[in-house]
Amino acid sequence: MHDDQAIRRIVIVGGGTAGWMTAAPLGQLMGSGDHGARCEIVLIESPEIGTVGVGEATLPTIRFYNRTLQLDNAEFIRKTQASFKLGIEFKDWGHLGNRFFHGFGEFGPAIANRSSVMHWLRLHGHGGMDNPEAWSTATVMAMRNRFVPPEGDVASAANAYSYAFHFDAGLYAAFLREYAMARGVKREEGTIVDVSVRPGDGFVTAVTLADGRRIEGDLFIDCSGFRALLIEGVCKVGYRDWTHWLPCDSAQAVPCDRVSPLTPYTTSTARSAGWQWRIPLQHRTGNGHVYCSGYISDDEAGRVLMGNLDGAAQGEPRQLRFKTGVRKKSWDRNVVAIGLSSGFLEPLESTSIQLIMDGVGRLIELFPDRRCDRFLADEYNRRMTQQYESIRDFIVLHYKLTQRDDSEFWRYCAAMSIPDTLNHQIELFRRSGRVAILDPDSFAEPSWVSLFLGLGCWPERHDPLLAQVDAQALREHFQRLRAAISQTVDGMPDHGAFIDKHVKAA
Ligand code: FAD
Repeated sequence: MHDDQAIRRIVIVGGGTAGWMTAAPLGQLMGSGDHGARCEIVLIESPEIGTVGVGEATLPTIRFYNRTLQLDNAEFIRKTQASFKLGIEFKDWGHLGNRFFHGFGEFGPAIANRSSVMHWLRLHGHGGMDNPEAWSTATVMAMRNRFVPPEGDVASAANAYSYAFHFDAGLYAAFLREYAMARGVKREEGTIVDVSVRPGDGFVTAVTLADGRRIEGDLFIDCSGFRALLIEGVCKVGYRDWTHWLPCDSAQAVPCDRVSPLTPYTTSTARSAGWQWRIPLQHRTGNGHVYCSGYISDDEAGRVLMGNLDGAAQGEPRQLRFKTGVRKKSWDRNVVAIGLSSGFLEPLESTSIQLIMDGVGRLIELFPDRRCDRFLADEYNRRMTQQYESIRDFIVLHYKLTQRDDSEFWRYCAAMSIPDTLNHQIELFRRSGRVAILDPDSFAEPSWVSLFLGLGCWPERHDPLLAQVDAQALREHFQRLRAAISQTVDGMPDHGAFIDKHVKAA
């Protein structure tokens, strides 16, 4: 039966990573198909304004996004110059000289209904256990520069890990543009200079471009980046400023020539007033310095970045500014903000693209008709807020647990107040070795444990039920597991060689 309230035209404002990551699944779902277009989808992008042009590291769920679109993996890796990512190596966080790895995956299979790492912590309390990273297959692979996708359904050292990608954000957007346009998404070039709003309910009805073209729509998706053209410019939803917890407000980014080996992980090195990223791609290495302008000048931040590259710089650093926080609502009336327009958390754990994917996924799940029922928007906002807050806590943890006191910036971070939810998380772990999962779509127990231990926060007590497992048998199990992981990883190909053989040749 024909629904006379169905959305007839969706207008996506912005063609950065968020715009095209939104257009692709919407095009797949309701663009032109065997039966013609079910809903018209128009994306507007402004060549004059351009895109933010950063955002190269992802989390493992990017694979599910790509799989839902039925992208060819080898083609995706070739076209976006992608490399594999097994996690993030942290250097000088916690204290100068510190290093640890946040790997994707478990620290081995669960035992007696408790995660492996909880048993490991109990044994560690008795002494004689090595670094927990020896039980994370992803970490052992990363440190030996090995890569092969996980294999088999039965849990073993050969598949107890996950992986994501590093890619060239511009090439990824272009790849998705081709995909979306092949499914009927229309692209309009131009700069929006005016927005029309319906009297009464304030719904957006049309946008006008600089050349006078007027584009009408029923649902507007604001992917206009930091400008937040509709969600803030028109809807004025307001912003929850989190700079007191995440004070970094600037970044400089520069690519450099690729060096060997091609490492299958991101590196994050803490600096005196922030941190520096290193993201290896096939054709270049991405670098950036995220910092707090209240503690270091732009000139000095640029010198720190340029002085810490491991290949020849490809140009001058590009300056970026931001304010950490989140919109009070991501969905208001018939406007849904996805991407930087909905909020910004610094890219320490590569979560922005994740938030884009989850934003699109939730929009599809809660897809409205032309009435844009308020309860759909409330549910969308509830889940986005929960996820933003959970990721915020995880990122603040990196700063709060520092023992560094070598700069004003680090002294501020160690002393700053933190959200109650994070305080709960830290105390729960410190007192009992447990991790609270406040949002199922954000970081899981192994991630929190990697950070706690990496930053030197150890539990004082353990889950008493762990004592039901015989300690000697457990010790032997961990020895066998460690040997199995080491042996399995030794048999894996080099990361760069794997890409050359299985991806480029495909
Ligand atoms: P943009 O790329 O800014 O796109 C905005 C679009 O809106 C553009 O097409 C622009 O032309 C259009 N537009 C704006 N105004 C108008 C107008 N008036 N008329 C018409 N069109 C208009 N994320 C990760 O997941 N991993 C990372 O490693 C990572 N690193 C980052 C590092 C830094 C320093 C920063 C700042 C961000 C990083 N991010 C990262 C975030 C990531 O870059 C963004 O989430 C992603 O690029 C999405 O951006 P966007 O599409 O929302 O905005």
